[in-house]
Amino acid sequence: MGIYHDPRWNEILGTRAVTASAPPPRVENVRALGYRSVAEMQKDWDKTVAAMNWNAAHQSARKLITEYYEDCRQLRIAINRKMFKADSIQEDAVDRTFNALSFMKTAIETAKDMEELGQAHESYLKTAACKLDHLCDPLLAEYEAYLDELKRKELIEASQQKLTAFRLGGNAQLRKVALGTSARYDSNGQPICHMVCVAVDMKTGATESGRAGHGLTRTALENRFGFSLPTTAANSFTVSNPYNCAELDALYQLMGKNVGVDIKQVYFASMMPGGSFTIPPCANCQRWIKDNGAKAARFNC
Ligand SMILES: [Zn+2]
Repeated sequence: MGIYHDPRWNEILGTRAVTASAPPPRVENVRALGYRSVAEMQKDWDKTVAAMNWNAAHQSARKLITEYYEDCRQLRIAINRKMFKADSIQEDAVDRTFNALSFMKTAIETAKDMEELGQAHESYLKTAACKLDHLCDPLLAEYEAYLDELKRKELIEASQQKLTAFRLGGNAQLRKVALGTSARYDSNGQPICHMVCVAVDMKTGATESGRAGHGLTRTALENRFGFSLPTTAANSFTVSNPYNCAELDALYQLMGKNVGVDIKQVYFASMMPGGSFTIPPCANCQRWIKDNGAKAARFNC
């Protein structure tokens, strides 16, 4: 639909009722308001109403033409840049419509009263665009769909970039923790801490680290997590305490220091103290990480 036939013109060019925000002055106050007669007051009031109507009409008309003008301008740029195809007839129609809209825009913007605004409206009828602008409609629809698609792709890309940045941030943090953590040994000289871990909240990028040998009980862990941990050990080396892992400590810290952490959006990365490469979580941790929809480096992502 071209601008000439836009139904909003009816309101713009039609006679308006006095707006409620400015009720007419009361006749009995004619002297108090400084008028010599009711007729004089009425004349002044009519002038005020006309000015109010004109300002509102002019503003609406400028808004309307800007809408059409901008759409057509963007469409023309998209065609010129070959963002999508238009045949020569369509291209010509867009050019002519754009020229007519440019002319009309100036006429509307420089209009001084309702009469000139009406003339600006009518002037469009005399242009070739009036008979061609319907050819622009399908192109505009196509262009809008193209923009929507572009926006969708950009949003996906931005969210992927965000996730990558969070993951890299977690890995960098992990490397720092691993370098600053030395292995612990028991009285027999056996290492106690085999792992450090960083848990990342992929919703916010918040990170917290943990280490094996944290000493937290199963009850304490489950109370904070809001889900149950497997009751039996999956690794022979953790039978005595299957709840000793760095991943559990990291999640405990993450949930303790951040509100609303959703386990489904947590990413774990683990490393040996002093190490430089991420390693997968142990078989114990793989179970609860997988069961609760979380992800871990070198395990499921
Ligand atoms: Zn583990």
